[in-house]
Amino acid sequence: MDHLPIFMDLRGKRTLLVGDGVMAARKADLLLRSGSDLTVVAPALGSEMLTLKEQYEFKHQSRPLSEGDLQGCVLAFGSSEDEALNEQLYEFAKRAAIPVNISDKTESCDFIMPALVDRSPLTIAISSGGSSPLLVRQLKARFETMIPAAYGKLAEFAGSYRDRIKLSIPDLTQRRRFWETMVDGPVAEHVLSNQMEEAESLMHKLLQKEEGNSEKEPVGEVYLVGTGPGDPDLLTFKALRLMQRADVVLYDRLIGDGILNLVRRDADRIYVGKRRDDHAISQSEISNMLVRLASEGKRVLRLKGGDPFIFGRGGEEIETLSEQGIAFQVVPGVTAAAGCASYAGIPLTHRDHAQSCIFVTGHQKDGRLNLNWEALIQPHQTVVIYMGLMSLQSITEGFIEHGAAVDTPAAIIENGTKAGQRVVTGSLTTLADAAARAGIQSPALIIVGSVVSLREKLSWFAP
Ligand code: SAH
Repeated sequence: MDHLPIFMDLRGKRTLLVGDGVMAARKADLLLRSGSDLTVVAPALGSEMLTLKEQYEFKHQSRPLSEGDLQGCVLAFGSSEDEALNEQLYEFAKRAAIPVNISDKTESCDFIMPALVDRSPLTIAISSGGSSPLLVRQLKARFETMIPAAYGKLAEFAGSYRDRIKLSIPDLTQRRRFWETMVDGPVAEHVLSNQMEEAESLMHKLLQKEEGNSEKEPVGEVYLVGTGPGDPDLLTFKALRLMQRADVVLYDRLIGDGILNLVRRDADRIYVGKRRDDHAISQSEISNMLVRLASEGKRVLRLKGGDPFIFGRGGEEIETLSEQGIAFQVVPGVTAAAGCASYAGIPLTHRDHAQSCIFVTGHQKDGRLNLNWEALIQPHQTVVIYMGLMSLQSITEGFIEHGAAVDTPAAIIENGTKAGQRVVTGSLTTLADAAARAGIQSPALIIVGSVVSLREKLSWFAP
């Protein structure tokens, strides 16, 4: 991060602005709206500044800038069309150690001014650190259309209840839930459509109900959420929504930072994948942990790579929950087969190549592959093998031994859908060697079938 975003309380604090044009007026407007005690230094005020003067009170000083003008100021702005004047301000400010901002001159700025989406008291500040003003403008435009104008009112409404709610609902988790219900529900709807009386009366009812319930423990729940194979853009809306609600998250190795960063910031994070000593937390330990956390009233997010019900042991984890009467939801995700195939340009079915597709695991049990070769080696069928990297050689040999054509196309996809995706293609005869030469690592997915030949034409993702 190049800059630290902060929101500064300027009420009653002195600021100094040099300049009288449009740019200066825009800055002055922001400073005055923030309640600052502003002095504008300029020989005369331009028309925009004069318009501002009709709305706000500020000092105008027409004599030249002197070092003493900066005394007691917390911020200084140089927005004059006269470069020399800006430079002089910069020097004075530096000497007095007052943070200064010179318009359109990043090298002379201790701080930069973000683009604003103003729904006061709710404010969104956007900056690209000067690297892409266009992107900032686009984002601002998106926010402007996305966030109802009345959101500020909602924030204000919520603010007016803060103290009372803190008293009535001392428990932090319970209080957060109360807010969520309020912001997602009919109270907010009324505020947004300016029906304040209805909003107030509903809010009182909600609060009374809550006060009557204060002894009751909050009820926990588990969200078993599939995150897809890696690209955060492949998350579902529902996944994202529940990720934003969780109090605690349990995740393992396959969940990348891009996805983890989308989980609510203050949710506790528990890693349940393999540790450095390669000792994985057992399935039953994880299930028990889910039960314990949910019983404490927490909203527990269990993140799973791909889809939780496809080689994800999701079924086992929630079996215990169901036995213990703990509420849960399951959110499907894009499974590795679908994600990797799309991003590698290999359609899993195709009218000219395959009418069926089968998913199997290549994980060995007691050192042996346990595959139903007859079911796998069928005409016009694509076979997708999860967890098959370690046994790649035995898998391709097995296909051939059980009668598959030696030149059947096959592919292995490493880190599918992610920035580091690599795809190696070949045939049942060549794939294992080619993958070894390329140094393919886990996670990797194997696809066997004539659809693999389509990649030549359909490959599109070039990370
Ligand atoms: N529930 C997951 C699968 C978990 S099993 C799903 O639906 O996708 C783990 C295996 O999935 C890995 O060994 C690998 O074969 C495959 N896999 C998961 N993510 C992958 C990725 N990004 N690229 C390639 N293979 C992946």
